[in-house]
Amino acid sequence: MMVSENTYTKPATLEETIQLVSQYGDNFKFIAGGTDIMANKYQGNDLTHHFIDITGIVALNGIHVNDNYIVIGALTRLDDLKKSREINEEFPVLIEAAHAVGSPLIRKTATLGGNILCENRCIFYNQSEWWREAVGYCLKCSGNVCIATGGKKACFSEFISDTAPALISMNAQVRLIEPEGERVIALEALYTGDGVNPKTIKNTSILKEILLPRSQKYRCAFKKLRLRETLEFTSLTTAVSINKHDIIRIVLAGVDPKPVLIEGKLGDDKEVLIVKAIKGARAVENDMFSRSYRRDMIRVFLNNCFKQIDI
Ligand SMILES: Cc1cc2nc3c(=O)[nH]c(=O)nc-3n(C[C@H](O)[C@H](O)[C@H](O)COP(=O)(O)OP(=O)(O)OC[C@H]3O[C@@H](n4cnc5c(N)ncnc54)[C@H](O)[C@@H]3O)c2cc1C
Repeated sequence: MMVSENTYTKPATLEETIQLVSQYGDNFKFIAGGTDIMANKYQGNDLTHHFIDITGIVALNGIHVNDNYIVIGALTRLDDLKKSREINEEFPVLIEAAHAVGSPLIRKTATLGGNILCENRCIFYNQSEWWREAVGYCLKCSGNVCIATGGKKACFSEFISDTAPALISMNAQVRLIEPEGERVIALEALYTGDGVNPKTIKNTSILKEILLPRSQKYRCAFKKLRLRETLEFTSLTTAVSINKHDIIRIVLAGVDPKPVLIEGKLGDDKEVLIVKAIKGARAVENDMFSRSYRRDMIRVFLNNCFKQIDI
């Protein structure tokens, strides 16, 4: 097929989508709510010309419950999570995390799948084209080095999704539909830790749904550091969960190119867990708050989370 500049396609089924992606290859992106990808496109950070709108695919919609899992369709709007009785009763921290995203209008448009897969951010990258040109571009666009670190050959753009830390702390899995078939992986396995290419999946992978294991009796706490209480990306997010087997999962966002995950169990020395989390976070000077302040705040937030869920 000949593809022209700037195309927009809206398939109705997964089968049709798989056929389309095999025609476009690497040269396209999916759009769900569009609140992340379109902002990046109009800022000149995303150079994609071909978009496949997946919002018409019924199979990506809806929240279903079975004995083992709550299965949340990737297209579920962040604002709609609170309408599910099961999520309210069993995973209220997910509603809290979704509520921390952007503003009411964004939450009514943005999807859970898009939030999990939103692009990493950095104050040296999320700028206009002329600004980035003036500083000589960075590794994540057309430059050779990371500006935030004064010339390193690695990118430390921040992983900023607010819902992913809460989901990972509760052992969420994701179902992917790919031209090669279908697979289910742990949510944390989606992320590489490389700020330039932060996802382990190809652009042809469709995130179908998010699976949360039931009957774990999670107790969870969530905190987000930001300059103002709304319309603000995270500078540090902490999510801490403990399940009925007393396994603790601590997840950080906003301080590394991927979610930082630390596991422990009830009775572990909390200071040891906190130090592991601080050491695991490769925060650099690329945020509104300084690196040292954000590292200090990891200790404050984790201590508050531990208190809140009584561990
Ligand atoms: C002003 C503003 C404030 C914001 N504040 C926050 C914030 O506080 N916290 C936060 O986490 N985010 C924030 N965002 C970013 C964004 O709005 C959210 O991350 C949102 O949840 C993205 O979802 P979406 O459906 O709009 O994704 P889209 O923009 O449609 O997609 C994002 C990425 O995911 C891919 N994608 C989406 N769905 C699928 C799927 N099912 N399968 C495969 N690939 C898929 C797309 O190809 C794209 O690469 C903000 C954005 C703006 C503009």
